[in-house]
Amino acid sequence: MKLIILLGAPGSGKGTQALQIEKKTGLRHLSTGEMLRAEVEAGTDLGKELAGTLEQGNLVPDEVIIDIIRGCVRGDKCPQCPGLEACRAGFILDGFPRTVPQAEALDEMLKDQNREIDDVILLDVDESILFERIERRIRENAGNKRADDNARTLKNRLEIYTRATKPLVPYYEKKGLLRRIDGMRPIDQVTDEVFNVINRKKSAA
Ligand code: AMP
Repeated sequence: MKLIILLGAPGSGKGTQALQIEKKTGLRHLSTGEMLRAEVEAGTDLGKELAGTLEQGNLVPDEVIIDIIRGCVRGDKCPQCPGLEACRAGFILDGFPRTVPQAEALDEMLKDQNREIDDVILLDVDESILFERIERRIRENAGNKRADDNARTLKNRLEIYTRATKPLVPYYEKKGLLRRIDGMRPIDQVTDEVFNVINRKKSAA
């Protein structure tokens, strides 16, 4: 079981890099944002309850997202892993944890399962570049855009990242798990760096 956490602001490239890791390692990419958007699209009770929160770019309550991830960690229920085998082999978390209480809950779940986090990879990108990237994503996906991809919610999402999620950097630094990568380089170079981190750890183990 291998567990990688991708940390970074909205637009830092977590989804892109997670897909590369999934393609090359077979580890399952678990995106909490995608899980929640699927609930909204399917019109479930939870989706109806959370639609406004997602649209505004606010965080859903910790308990909601912790409950979903608990199923993935235990390997008994995972929205993105119907057969569960892939999830049991290990996964890449993209978008979780996003707060210190979520990170603490994850630590507890993993302890219960005798599992550990292998790497927490921080994709470091300047805020001005994040705005440019998200604005490009809005232009390129004009007909098919996420409800939360607009300049107003982006500002909110970046503020929330700074306030609620950035404290995870020292949290994982203290545990000796944080690997910082310059996320402003071309995508392929970032991917190479990501694999250097993952493989270095593997050969050292
Ligand atoms: P993302 O696709 O990761 O940017 O997530 C999209 C939206 O889903 C976020 O703006 C939040 O509203 C919600 N969300 C995703 N992951 C979490 C999480 N771990 N905690 C709280 N809200 C989340």
